[in-house]
Amino acid sequence: MKTLGVIGGMSWESSAVYYRLINQGVAARAGGLHSAPLLLHSVDFAGIAAAQAEGDWPGLAERLGGAARGLVNAGAGAVLIATNTMHKLADEVQAAAGVPLLHIADATGSALRAAGITRAGLLGTRFTMEDPAIVRDRLLTRHGVQTLLPDDAGRAAVHRIIYEELCRGRVEPSSRAVYVRAIESLRDAGAEAVILGCTEIGMLISPADSPLPVFDTTNLHAAAAVDWICS
Ligand code: GLU
Repeated sequence: MKTLGVIGGMSWESSAVYYRLINQGVAARAGGLHSAPLLLHSVDFAGIAAAQAEGDWPGLAERLGGAARGLVNAGAGAVLIATNTMHKLADEVQAAAGVPLLHIADATGSALRAAGITRAGLLGTRFTMEDPAIVRDRLLTRHGVQTLLPDDAGRAAVHRIIYEELCRGRVEPSSRAVYVRAIESLRDAGAEAVILGCTEIGMLISPADSPLPVFDTTNLHAAAAVDWICS
Protein backbone atom coordinates (compact mmCIF):
# COMPACT_ATOMS: atom_id res chain seq x y z
CA MET A 1 0.00 0.00 0.00
CA LYS A 2 1.08 3.58 -0.63
CA THR A 3 1.59 6.23 2.05
CA LEU A 4 -0.74 9.26 1.94
CA GLY A 5 0.02 12.64 3.53
CA VAL A 6 -2.97 14.38 5.11
CA ILE A 7 -3.00 18.12 5.85
CA GLY A 8 -5.62 18.33 8.58
CA GLY A 9 -6.73 19.99 11.75
CA MET A 10 -9.14 22.23 9.83
CA SER A 11 -10.86 21.39 11.98
CA TRP A 12 -9.57 18.40 13.93
CA GLU A 13 -13.21 17.32 14.37
CA SER A 14 -13.42 16.43 10.69
CA SER A 15 -9.85 15.14 10.52
CA ALA A 16 -10.83 12.57 13.15
CA VAL A 17 -13.66 11.45 10.86
CA TYR A 18 -11.28 11.20 7.89
CA TYR A 19 -8.86 9.14 9.98
CA ARG A 20 -11.56 6.66 10.96
CA LEU A 21 -13.09 6.43 7.46
CA ILE A 22 -9.75 5.96 5.67
CA ASN A 23 -8.68 3.25 8.11
CA GLN A 24 -12.06 1.50 7.90
CA GLY A 25 -11.94 1.64 4.11
CA VAL A 26 -8.44 0.18 3.92
CA ALA A 27 -9.33 -2.54 6.44
CA ALA A 28 -12.43 -3.44 4.41
CA ARG A 29 -10.39 -3.58 1.20
CA ALA A 30 -7.25 -5.32 2.46
CA GLY A 31 -8.70 -7.38 5.33
CA GLY A 32 -7.06 -8.77 8.43
CA LEU A 33 -5.15 -6.28 10.55
CA HIS A 34 -4.45 -3.93 7.65
CA SER A 35 -4.76 -0.21 8.31
CA ALA A 36 -3.91 2.92 6.34
CA PRO A 37 -0.29 4.09 5.96
CA LEU A 38 -0.86 7.79 6.75
CA LEU A 39 1.20 10.82 7.67
CA LEU A 40 -0.81 13.62 9.28
CA HIS A 41 0.19 17.27 9.59
CA SER A 42 -2.46 18.69 11.90
CA VAL A 43 -2.39 22.49 12.22
CA ASP A 44 -3.55 24.79 15.03
CA PHE A 45 -6.83 25.93 13.46
CA ALA A 46 -7.13 29.22 15.38
CA GLY A 47 -4.34 30.85 13.39
CA ILE A 48 -5.64 29.40 10.13
CA ALA A 49 -9.19 30.68 10.67
CA ALA A 50 -7.89 34.13 11.65
CA ALA A 51 -5.77 34.31 8.49
CA GLN A 52 -8.75 33.24 6.37
CA ALA A 53 -10.88 35.99 7.91
CA GLU A 54 -8.11 38.54 7.21
CA GLY A 55 -7.73 37.31 3.64
CA ASP A 56 -4.08 36.36 4.15
CA TRP A 57 -4.14 33.66 1.48
CA PRO A 58 -0.46 34.11 0.53
CA GLY A 59 0.51 33.45 4.16
CA LEU A 60 -1.76 30.42 4.25
CA ALA A 61 -0.25 29.12 1.01
CA GLU A 62 3.19 29.31 2.64
CA ARG A 63 1.98 27.38 5.69
CA LEU A 64 0.13 24.67 3.82
CA GLY A 65 2.88 24.42 1.20
CA GLY A 66 5.40 23.90 3.98
CA ALA A 67 3.20 21.23 5.52
CA ALA A 68 2.93 19.47 2.15
CA ARG A 69 6.70 19.52 1.65
CA GLY A 70 7.21 18.07 5.13
CA LEU A 71 4.81 15.22 4.40
CA VAL A 72 6.53 14.41 1.12
CA ASN A 73 9.97 14.52 2.78
CA ALA A 74 8.64 12.10 5.38
CA GLY A 75 7.56 9.65 2.67
CA ALA A 76 4.10 10.61 1.41
CA GLY A 77 3.48 9.74 -2.25
CA ALA A 78 0.41 11.99 -2.55
CA VAL A 79 -1.25 14.64 -0.39
CA LEU A 80 -4.81 15.37 0.63
CA ILE A 81 -6.12 18.65 2.09
CA ALA A 82 -8.85 17.61 4.56
CA THR A 83 -11.08 20.66 4.06
CA ASN A 84 -13.01 22.14 1.15
CA THR A 85 -12.18 25.76 1.95
CA MET A 86 -8.43 25.31 1.83
CA HIS A 87 -8.71 23.91 -1.69
CA LYS A 88 -8.53 27.60 -2.55
CA LEU A 89 -4.80 26.86 -2.28
CA ALA A 90 -4.83 23.46 -4.01
CA ASP A 91 -2.58 24.60 -6.88
CA GLU A 92 -0.02 26.16 -4.53
CA VAL A 93 0.00 23.10 -2.26
CA GLN A 94 0.35 20.74 -5.23
CA ALA A 95 3.25 22.80 -6.60
CA ALA A 96 5.00 22.81 -3.22
CA ALA A 97 4.46 19.07 -2.79
CA GLY A 98 5.52 17.96 -6.26
CA VAL A 99 3.35 14.83 -5.91
CA PRO A 100 -0.32 14.22 -6.80
CA LEU A 101 -2.97 16.05 -4.77
CA LEU A 102 -6.26 14.18 -4.29
CA HIS A 103 -8.68 17.04 -5.01
CA ILE A 104 -11.93 17.09 -3.02
CA ALA A 105 -13.93 18.40 -6.01
CA ASP A 106 -12.87 15.43 -8.14
CA ALA A 107 -13.97 12.95 -5.47
CA THR A 108 -17.29 14.80 -5.18
CA GLY A 109 -17.81 15.41 -8.89
CA SER A 110 -17.15 11.79 -9.84
CA ALA A 111 -19.79 10.59 -7.39
CA LEU A 112 -22.35 13.13 -8.62
CA ARG A 113 -21.69 12.23 -12.24
CA ALA A 114 -22.00 8.52 -11.47
CA ALA A 115 -25.41 9.27 -9.93
CA GLY A 116 -26.47 11.25 -13.02
CA ILE A 117 -26.79 14.53 -11.11
CA THR A 118 -26.10 17.78 -12.97
CA ARG A 119 -27.63 20.38 -10.58
CA ALA A 120 -26.63 20.19 -6.92
CA GLY A 121 -27.02 22.52 -3.97
CA LEU A 122 -23.79 23.42 -2.17
CA LEU A 123 -23.46 24.08 1.56
CA GLY A 124 -20.10 25.12 3.00
CA THR A 125 -18.20 28.09 4.32
CA ARG A 126 -18.81 31.45 2.68
CA PHE A 127 -15.42 31.04 1.02
CA THR A 128 -16.42 27.74 -0.59
CA MET A 129 -19.89 28.93 -1.58
CA GLU A 130 -18.92 32.36 -2.90
CA ASP A 131 -15.50 31.82 -4.50
CA PRO A 132 -16.07 29.70 -7.61
CA ALA A 133 -12.35 28.91 -7.87
CA ILE A 134 -12.43 26.70 -4.75
CA VAL A 135 -14.65 23.82 -5.95
CA ARG A 136 -17.56 25.16 -8.05
CA ASP A 137 -15.67 25.82 -11.29
CA ARG A 138 -14.00 22.44 -11.13
CA LEU A 139 -17.31 20.67 -10.47
CA LEU A 140 -18.75 22.36 -13.56
CA THR A 141 -15.89 22.15 -16.02
CA ARG A 142 -14.54 18.70 -15.13
CA HIS A 143 -17.69 16.96 -13.98
CA GLY A 144 -20.61 18.83 -15.58
CA VAL A 145 -22.22 19.67 -12.23
CA GLN A 146 -23.82 23.08 -11.77
CA THR A 147 -24.04 24.26 -8.14
CA LEU A 148 -26.87 26.23 -6.52
CA LEU A 149 -26.40 28.25 -3.32
CA PRO A 150 -28.63 29.36 -0.43
CA ASP A 151 -29.58 33.05 -0.36
CA ASP A 152 -27.37 35.54 1.47
CA ALA A 153 -29.02 35.04 4.87
CA GLY A 154 -28.84 31.28 4.41
CA ARG A 155 -25.16 31.43 3.50
CA ALA A 156 -24.42 33.57 6.56
CA ALA A 157 -26.17 31.09 8.87
CA VAL A 158 -24.51 28.04 7.32
CA HIS A 159 -21.07 29.70 7.60
CA ARG A 160 -21.58 30.85 11.20
CA ILE A 161 -22.67 27.40 12.37
CA ILE A 162 -19.53 25.83 10.85
CA TYR A 163 -17.06 28.09 12.69
CA GLU A 164 -18.97 28.76 15.91
CA GLU A 165 -20.34 25.26 16.48
CA LEU A 166 -19.21 22.35 14.30
CA CYS A 167 -15.47 23.17 14.30
CA ARG A 168 -15.77 23.29 18.12
CA GLY A 169 -17.54 19.93 18.31
CA ARG A 170 -20.99 21.37 19.04
CA VAL A 171 -23.94 19.74 17.29
CA GLU A 172 -27.18 21.65 17.96
CA PRO A 173 -30.67 20.47 16.92
CA SER A 174 -31.65 24.10 16.22
CA SER A 175 -28.77 24.36 13.74
CA ARG A 176 -29.79 21.11 12.10
CA ALA A 177 -33.18 22.73 11.47
CA VAL A 178 -31.44 25.73 9.86
CA TYR A 179 -29.55 23.40 7.51
CA VAL A 180 -32.67 21.39 6.67
CA ARG A 181 -34.46 24.62 5.72
CA ALA A 182 -31.53 25.63 3.52
CA ILE A 183 -31.65 22.23 1.79
CA GLU A 184 -35.42 22.59 1.28
CA SER A 185 -34.88 25.95 -0.40
CA LEU A 186 -32.20 24.43 -2.66
CA ARG A 187 -34.61 21.62 -3.58
CA ASP A 188 -37.33 24.18 -4.37
CA ALA A 189 -34.83 26.03 -6.61
CA GLY A 190 -34.23 22.87 -8.64
CA ALA A 191 -31.33 21.09 -6.96
CA GLU A 192 -31.41 17.30 -7.40
CA ALA A 193 -29.00 16.66 -4.51
CA VAL A 194 -27.05 18.55 -1.85
CA ILE A 195 -23.26 18.62 -1.50
CA LEU A 196 -22.13 18.78 2.12
CA GLY A 197 -19.25 20.99 0.99
CA CYS A 198 -17.62 21.48 4.33
CA THR A 199 -15.99 18.56 6.05
CA GLU A 200 -17.82 19.07 9.38
CA ILE A 201 -21.39 19.16 8.05
CA GLY A 202 -21.74 15.38 8.21
CA MET A 203 -21.61 15.73 12.00
CA LEU A 204 -24.90 17.66 11.79
CA ILE A 205 -26.75 16.32 8.73
CA SER A 206 -27.20 12.63 7.95
CA PRO A 207 -28.91 11.34 4.80
CA ALA A 208 -32.00 10.68 6.94
CA ASP A 209 -32.20 14.37 7.96
CA SER A 210 -31.96 15.69 4.42
CA PRO A 211 -34.82 16.47 2.03
CA LEU A 212 -32.37 15.82 -0.86
CA PRO A 213 -29.88 13.01 -1.54
CA VAL A 214 -26.64 13.83 0.29
CA PHE A 215 -23.11 13.91 -1.17
CA ASP A 216 -20.82 14.27 1.85
CA THR A 217 -17.40 15.55 0.77
CA THR A 218 -15.68 13.97 3.80
CA ASN A 219 -16.96 10.49 2.94
CA LEU A 220 -16.23 10.87 -0.76
CA HIS A 221 -12.76 12.32 -0.23
CA ALA A 222 -11.90 9.58 2.28
CA ALA A 223 -13.07 6.96 -0.25
CA ALA A 224 -10.79 8.51 -2.90
CA ALA A 225 -7.94 8.31 -0.38
CA VAL A 226 -8.62 4.59 0.15
CA ASP A 227 -8.63 4.01 -3.62
CA TRP A 228 -5.26 5.75 -3.98
CA ILE A 229 -3.67 3.98 -0.99
CA CYS A 230 -4.77 0.57 -2.24
CA SER A 231 -4.07 1.16 -5.95
N1 GLU B 1 -13.67 22.03 7.23
C1 GLU B 1 -14.29 23.11 6.58
C2 GLU B 1 -14.33 22.95 5.08
O1 GLU B 1 -14.40 21.84 4.61
C3 GLU B 1 -14.07 24.48 7.07
C4 GLU B 1 -12.84 24.74 7.87
C5 GLU B 1 -11.84 25.49 7.05
O2 GLU B 1 -11.99 26.69 6.94
O3 GLU B 1 -10.94 24.87 6.50
O4 GLU B 1 -14.37 23.89 4.34
